[in-house]
Amino acid sequence: MMNFEKFLLNSLKSLEIKELKRNRLILKENIINFSSNDYLGLKDNPITKENLCKNIKNLSLGSGASTHISGYTEIQKKLEEKLSSFKETENCIVVGSGYLANVGLISAITTEKDIIFSDSLNHASIIDGIRLSKAKKVIYKHNNIEDLEEKIKKEKVNGNRFIITDGVFSMEGDIAKLDKLYEIAEKYDAVLIIDDAHSTGILGEGKGSLFHFGLKPNKRVVQMGTLSKAVGSYGSFICGTNLLIDYLVNKMRTAIFTTALSPIQNFISLENLKILINQPERRKDVLQKAKYLYEKLKEREFNIKYYGVPIISLILNTPERAIYYRDKLLEKGFFVQAIRPPTVPEGECRLRITLSYNHKYEEIENLIKALKEVQDEEINRKN
Ligand SMILES: *Cc1c(COP(=O)(O)O)cnc(C)c1O
Repeated sequence: MMNFEKFLLNSLKSLEIKELKRNRLILKENIINFSSNDYLGLKDNPITKENLCKNIKNLSLGSGASTHISGYTEIQKKLEEKLSSFKETENCIVVGSGYLANVGLISAITTEKDIIFSDSLNHASIIDGIRLSKAKKVIYKHNNIEDLEEKIKKEKVNGNRFIITDGVFSMEGDIAKLDKLYEIAEKYDAVLIIDDAHSTGILGEGKGSLFHFGLKPNKRVVQMGTLSKAVGSYGSFICGTNLLIDYLVNKMRTAIFTTALSPIQNFISLENLKILINQPERRKDVLQKAKYLYEKLKEREFNIKYYGVPIISLILNTPERAIYYRDKLLEKGFFVQAIRPPTVPEGECRLRITLSYNHKYEEIENLIKALKEVQDEEINRKN
C-alpha cells in the first residue's frame, strides 16, 4: 500500500476507535428533523418557491464571474441594500458563505501589528480566519469579560485591537455579553466583530444580537452573518460603514478571487429575508417552542443547556453515549445529530436539538416521549 494511503487509512481508523468518525447521511422523508438551522421554516417555504417560478426566466443560473469582473448583479445589490437597512448600517457586502466571510474578513482587516482577542468557543471559521491573519491571537475564556479585560490590559499593541465573538454560540446556544463587550471595545479603542450566524432572524426583533441588548451599530462594530440559517438560503453578509465595505471590496480575497453567488440564490435570500422581516410571528413561535421543549425536558434527569434561543443541548459527555442516543432516536423516527470533538471540547459530547417554526407541538411531544424511552433503555442496559 502507498504511504499516502496508509496515512489516510490510519487517520480514519484512529477516528473510528474513538467513535469520532463521521459519515454523511441522507435523511428519509418520514424522519422528523431536529438538527436543522432552519429556525424560521424558510428553507422550503412555498411563497418564495412560487415567486422564484414566476421570475426564473429573468434570472441567470450562474453569475459567470466574480463580483469584481462581471458577476455583480442588480439582485445582489438589492440584497445588500436590504441587509444594510435591516442591520442599521451604512453598507453591506454579500459573499459566498459564512465560512468565506469570516476567513476573508479577519485576514483582510488585520496586520502583524494588531491583536485579535477571540472567545474560546468561537466558530471554526473564525479560528481559520485568525490562522490566516498575521495578527497576534489571544484567546479569552468563554464569555468571560474579566478574563478578556485582564488580557487586553496585559497585551501591548502597536496597531489595532479586535474583539471577535459569536453573537449566539453555535454549539452552546448561549448569548455573548455584548453590552459588556461593546463597553470594553469603547474603553480600549477596539473593533468589535460579531458573528450573527445564529442570531439573525432570532434575537433583537430578528436584527441580531447587538439589538438584543438595545444597542446600535457604530463605526467600531462589524456585523457578519449567514443567509443559510434562519434566512433559509445560502450566502453571507458583512455589514458596517461605507469605509469598511469599500475596503473589503478592495482587499477581501474571499470576495475577489471567487465567483459571485448565483442570481437565483440571491433572489431566494432576498425573498426569504422579506418574509423574515414581515412575519415576526415565525420568530416568536420558534422561541416559544424551544422554551416548551426545555421545560418538559427539565422535569426529567437530563443535563440540559438552554439560553432562550432555539438551540437546546442535551449533554451526554462521551461520544459513545451521544451516538447511542442519536441512533436510538433515529430508530424511533427522529433525527438529532450527535456533536463530538473537535466541534465541542472533549467530554462535552451532546445532542444538539434545534427547533423550527415548522415543527408541530405533537412532534415535539413525541420527541420528548422518545427521549424518555431512550433514557430508560440506557438505564436498563447498564443494569
Ligand atoms: C454556520 C456558521 C458559520 C458559517 O456559515 P456558513 O454560511 O454555513 O458557511 C459561521 N459562524 C457561525 C457562528 C456559524 O454557526
